[in-house]
Amino acid sequence: MKHSYLKIVACFFALCMMAGCLGSKDKYPMDKSFESFKKEFVNQLWKLNPQWALSVGFHEYDDLIEIPSREARDNKLKIYSALADSLKKFDWKKLCSPNQLDLKLMSNYLDYYKWEATVFKSWEWNPAEYNLGEGFDLVLGNKDRPLDGRLHTIMERLRFVPAYYIAAKANISRPTREHTDLAILQNEGSLSIFETIIPDSSAASTLNGEEKKLLADRLSDAVEAVKDYVSFLKDLRKKQDTDTTQYRSFRIGKEMYDKKFSFEIQSGYSAEQIFEKAKQHKDELHTEMQKLTSQLWSKYFGNKPMPEGLPAVKMMIDTLSVHHCQRDSFLITIKNQIPQLEAFIKQKNLLYLDPTKPLVVRETPAYMEGGGAGASINAPGPYDKNGNTYYNVTPLTGYTAEQAESYLREYNDYILQILNIHEAIPGHYAQLVYSNKSPSLIKSILQNNAMIEGWAVYGERMMLEEGYGGNTPEMWLMYYKWNLRSTLNTILDYSIQCLDMSEQDALNLMINEGFQQQAEAAGKWKRATLSQVQLCCYFTGYTEIYDFRNEYKQKMGEKYNLKDFHEKFLSYGSVPVKFIREQMLEEADEAAK
Ligand code: ZN
Ligand code: ZN
Repeated sequence: MKHSYLKIVACFFALCMMAGCLGSKDKYPMDKSFESFKKEFVNQLWKLNPQWALSVGFHEYDDLIEIPSREARDNKLKIYSALADSLKKFDWKKLCSPNQLDLKLMSNYLDYYKWEATVFKSWEWNPAEYNLGEGFDLVLGNKDRPLDGRLHTIMERLRFVPAYYIAAKANISRPTREHTDLAILQNEGSLSIFETIIPDSSAASTLNGEEKKLLADRLSDAVEAVKDYVSFLKDLRKKQDTDTTQYRSFRIGKEMYDKKFSFEIQSGYSAEQIFEKAKQHKDELHTEMQKLTSQLWSKYFGNKPMPEGLPAVKMMIDTLSVHHCQRDSFLITIKNQIPQLEAFIKQKNLLYLDPTKPLVVRETPAYMEGGGAGASINAPGPYDKNGNTYYNVTPLTGYTAEQAESYLREYNDYILQILNIHEAIPGHYAQLVYSNKSPSLIKSILQNNAMIEGWAVYGERMMLEEGYGGNTPEMWLMYYKWNLRSTLNTILDYSIQCLDMSEQDALNLMINEGFQQQAEAAGKWKRATLSQVQLCCYFTGYTEIYDFRNEYKQKMGEKYNLKDFHEKFLSYGSVPVKFIREQMLEEADEAAK
């Protein structure tokens, strides 16, 4: 009974959204022409970015590779600027609210590309942007098509490889040493696709002799082109060791960071405001963790004297981390937790979960394993909405006993539950089901990562606040440790990119104030040198959602309800939190009239 009632409510809700857009022509007179503009925009996008199209499951341009030449960039800029001009002709007030959001997303994307191509210019200093391995892998791995057909497409694609790497070499100027190292590593890694994986598939196919010969010839040209690129980079890398004019710093500096932050995150806060909030949050977390540690001390350490400050917290975390599942029950432990999370959400009335879109927990398929264990959500793309959503869990079979123990301590009984909240329910998987209901290709293509990650991080806190995990001091302490990670990621990203933070200071921060292991901290340092405005998106989205919830609660007064807030918030799709905030506040004003 309860089920069918909920289903009706959900359907009604979906109809409302549609009606708001298509039903009221008089109120939103520009919607119709805007819909055709959106179609044109997406067409152009895929034509100009065949690799991107391929990665989201749009296969019309699979046989093309975009040559990264100056002419191609200029051409793209020209077409994008024409699209931007057309976009400006739409009066956004004459569009329904979902279309207003689409307009903002497209306009931000076009501005972002222009800035990236003409100011940021990572095409000049990041040689790792050039790598064809993944694209060929995706075409070959597309199991919807017969093997021979895929190999024909690959044959077409291969014709572009030599020109692609010639253009890449011409683009590169004073690359960072870090990105040069990465490019060498990754392009060498891609060689196996051309040297082994495609040839093996060719041997297994029914292509005729002539075709096989042609494929083999083109593959050997491709291998030569990749090897030439790698040796070009290795030569450059040698020069960089002795000549400082051959490279630039991996740190992009405050001006670039601010700009990238505004395009990428589209936050209501500035990068600096978020940095300040993260530092303050770190101090609050430390205070709470010390309180909980003193509360728990005698339970775990008896009469042993408690050290001052953070070292005691570290001892407590290490002690609690010993509680973990066995290495051979990692997958089943995760699987068993999903129904528990669902039941809790229903019992506490936190969010409607669509029972027709199940989450499939499975072992990570071999072709997706990126080395190392892990758990991640694998969602269907915008062109395959009815595909399954998988929760891929990599078994710990390849680990030594010592590695497995260290991994299991990291994902101990407490943290594993928080990971499941983040990845599955009510985190990424639940958010995705809602996002797919908001019927806009633009929103799924130009999705906002800060909103997506922010929601998953928000979900962790919300669940604990509602009592998940029994409200025990142990659970809260471990949650704070987990939350400290995304908080420190934000501090690190900003400090390293904008404030010249040294490697040693970064490691000290992670190890002494974040309770991280040496290996985790070293890996994070590396990631922080290779990416910008990526590590900060979790905390930024979380902070915006949490702050907005408080604001909304105040505004709604007695009418506020947590479930309504969640469902309304998610109904807009994966768009920047500040836009959702604007629209929800506006609707609340309208309703109050
Ligand atoms: Zn153990
Ligand atoms: Zn996530």
